[in-house]
Amino acid sequence: ASDPRIAGIAKSIRVIPDFPKPGILFQDITTLLLHTKAFRDTIDLFVERYQGKGISVVAGVEARGFIFGPPIALAIGAKFVPMRKPNKLPGPVIAEEYSLEYGTDKMEMHEGAVEAGEKVLVIDDLIATGGTLGAAIRLLGRVGAHVVECACVIELPELKGRDRLGDTPLFVLVSSA
Ligand code: AMP
Repeated sequence: ASDPRIAGIAKSIRVIPDFPKPGILFQDITTLLLHTKAFRDTIDLFVERYQGKGISVVAGVEARGFIFGPPIALAIGAKFVPMRKPNKLPGPVIAEEYSLEYGTDKMEMHEGAVEAGEKVLVIDDLIATGGTLGAAIRLLGRVGAHVVECACVIELPELKGRDRLGDTPLFVLVSSA
C-alpha cells in the first residue's frame, strides 16, 4: 500500500511529448512546484525516510536536484553539495565523465566539499538510464564517501537505470510508464 500522498504528487507532474526532441516524453516537475501541497508532500516523504539515519551530506545533481535537495538537507541537518555541469564551479574540482546516448558528459564537485567516511544521499528529479546518478556515485566514491541511497521523484523503469547504480539502493516516489 503506497502512501496516500503519492497520488497527488503523481498527478501534479505534467508530461510533455517530444521535448526537448521528438520521441522524448518529458516529465515536467515545474507543475509539481506550483502545487504547494504536492511540493511539501514530496519533501516530507524524503525527510521522513532519511532523518535520523546519520546522513551528513545531501548531494544534488544539476539542475533539478538543486530544487529538491536543499529543503531535505535543511530538514535532516545535513550539508548541501551541488554536483555540477563542467566549468561552473569556481574552486578546485574533481570530475567524472559519463556516457550519454550520443557522446559523453562530465560532472564536477568541489574538492573538500565531502570528506572520506561521510554518509551521502544523492538527489535528482528523475532517473532515466541511470548514467547521471551512476556518475555521482562514482565521484563520491572517489573521495571515500558512502552513498547510502539515491532518491528521485520519478523513475522511468523501462530504461532500467537501477542496473547502473551497482549496489547503491534507489528510492523513488513515482514510476512512470
Ligand atoms: P539519465 O542519466 O539517463 O538517468 O537521465 C537523468 C537526467 O536527465 C535527470 O537529470 C533528468 O532530469 C533528465 N531526464 C532524462 N529523461 C527525462 C525525461 N523523460 N523527463 C525529464 N527529465 C529527464
